Amino acid sequence: MFSKILYPTDFSDVSKKALDYIKQLKEAGTKEVIVLHVLDERGIDAMVRYASGSYDELIGRILKEAREEGERVEAALKESGFKVKMRIQTGIPLTAILKVEEEEGVSAIVIGSHGKTNLEEMLLGSVSEKVIRKSKTPVLVIKR
Ligand code: ATP
Ligand code: MN
Repeated sequence: MFSKILYPTDFSDVSKKALDYIKQLKEAGTKEVIVLHVLDERGIDAMVRYASGSYDELIGRILKEAREEGERVEAALKESGFKVKMRIQTGIPLTAILKVEEEEGVSAIVIGSHGKTNLEEMLLGSVSEKVIRKSKTPVLVIKR
C-alpha cells in the first residue's frame, strides 16, 4: 500500500515532521517518494504587486530558495535509501497535488495536518482538508 508515496511539502515545521515518519515507512515497504512543492500562483500575484523588482526576478528568487530546501529533503530521503523524484511547480496546491497523484500513480499520500499558517484553532489546514476529501488514494496525516 505504501510502495510509492506522494509527499507534498510546503517546507513548514509540520511538513518536516512528516518527513521523519516517511523515513520509517521503509519498514512498510516504501521504495519511492515523489516530493512535490507547489509555488502558489495566487500568492505570487499578490507578492509581485508589493515586492520590488520584476515578476521574473521574484519568481527566480523564490524558485532558488525552494530548490535549496528541496535538495535538503531529497538528500535526506536518498540517505535513507529511497528512490526520490523532486517536483517543484507553480500552480494551486490542491490541483497540483491531485494531478501528480494521478500522473505518478502513487499508492498513498503523506501530508502534514497543518502547514505554514498553522492556526491554533484550525483542526486541519485548507490544503490537507481538501486533499483528504478529494484524493483517490489513502492519506496519512501527520499531526502537528
Ligand atoms: P492554510 O494554508 O489553510 O492557511 P496551513 O498552512 O496551516 O493552513 P495547509 O496549507 O493545509 O495548512 O498545509 C497542510 C499540509 O499540506 C502541509 O504540511 C503540506 O504537507 C501540504 N502543503 C501545503 N501547502 C503546500 C504547497 N504549497 N505545496 C505542497 N504541499 C503543500
Ligand atoms: Mn498553507
